[in-house]
Amino acid sequence: MKGNQRYTQIHLTNPLPQDNMIENVFESLVNELKQFRQNVPVGCLTDKCSHQQKEKQDLSMFSGAGGYLYLYMRMYEFVKTLPEDLQTFCTSGLSDQELPEFYNPEIYLDLAQKQYDAMQAILKQDRYITFLMSNIATSLLGADLYFIKKDKENFSKNISQVLGVFANIMANPNQFQQELLYGIPGYLYMFLWINKRYSKEQGPYQLDLTSHIFNLCKMIVAQCGDGIMKCKFFNQTYFGAAHGILGIIQILLLSYEQAKDYFHLKDEKFTLKMLESIQLTLDYLIKIYYKQGNIPPSAEDIQSVELQQFCHGIPGAVSPLLKAYQIFNNQDYMNASIHMSETLYKYGMIKKGYGICHGIPGNSYGFMQIYQVTKNEKFRRYAFQFLQYKQNPHVFNEVKNFPFYDRHVVGMSDNPFSLMLGSVGDMCAMMDFINYKRMPGYEV
Ligand SMILES: [Zn+2]
Repeated sequence: MKGNQRYTQIHLTNPLPQDNMIENVFESLVNELKQFRQNVPVGCLTDKCSHQQKEKQDLSMFSGAGGYLYLYMRMYEFVKTLPEDLQTFCTSGLSDQELPEFYNPEIYLDLAQKQYDAMQAILKQDRYITFLMSNIATSLLGADLYFIKKDKENFSKNISQVLGVFANIMANPNQFQQELLYGIPGYLYMFLWINKRYSKEQGPYQLDLTSHIFNLCKMIVAQCGDGIMKCKFFNQTYFGAAHGILGIIQILLLSYEQAKDYFHLKDEKFTLKMLESIQLTLDYLIKIYYKQGNIPPSAEDIQSVELQQFCHGIPGAVSPLLKAYQIFNNQDYMNASIHMSETLYKYGMIKKGYGICHGIPGNSYGFMQIYQVTKNEKFRRYAFQFLQYKQNPHVFNEVKNFPFYDRHVVGMSDNPFSLMLGSVGDMCAMMDFINYKRMPGYEV
């Protein structure tokens, strides 16, 4: 590790007590939700930025109103699906008045509808195509909303809006990026979302996108090449989740997992080549990791190992490695992801603090993902320490005073209530700690 690690990262010398983890995380969730509701009116269409910027209209999941809609849908799902034994843990933080209000899924569904209506009223096609950046994602969540409400007409309308871009991408693949944040894999993510939820439905909501998924994967693999795959973004060969090959591998593995039989039937030669390339690329990245202690942002910047956050570095590697472990039954991938988690626990408490993209809650997902596979309690405790970063004065004082050059206000997220940079992401991670569903934008 380089000498400047300590400047941007906190070594957890004063961990929080670890009894009542669920109660404590739930209390933090409720506090964050209250803050959010006080600051972000339902139907808000702006990016709710920190005070030294000009507030602007922003419908994206990444930094804007899409994230508010995402939160309401996740809260609905959380309350609706929380097992009874977990509910008992989670009631202690609520007053008698708050209790029935909090556990009422209809309230969140109503908020989601209002948020969606406001967004749909001004929705227009934008130049982006991905779940995290494009307006199209509003329609993706709209489809879920109308599915819950059993409104077939609006469900289909929203699905059509998501599918509407497909033909253009197939006809002009070179006009689009190849990474997760702006490129074709970030569009494919929405197909995986739809296919997972609706391919096994019966009747009018049944929707099978297997062949579309296959076609998009073929296109992505053609761009990234055989053998050790490459992801070019603005003249750099990126490795990480947001802009690089790890994000692509994650999407390819999710695709293969969902449509395995179709892949082999449709084109066995291509499928085997794709699987081989994925393994070669992961092996290459693991080798770099064991040598340098992290995965650098790009091949052009191979000596740089200081970034340990979802968008760059090992945090984005854990999920694809665990998927690879399950698909290829190769223990090396499990070993590497566990090794990375220990490194992440040492260096992943980053002073940038907030959010999923380059924040502490984003890094907590690595621990939660390993816990889902191994059920080793240690990783749950790691996740707890990371999620409670605001409750730990030794950590939060550093976060509040860290002069991150890329921000407008010291110690404050540029979009404090957003999904990828702010508290919506933190809340999703807290819900996932209590009852795991999926990492936003990276799992379906
Ligand atoms: Zn980031």
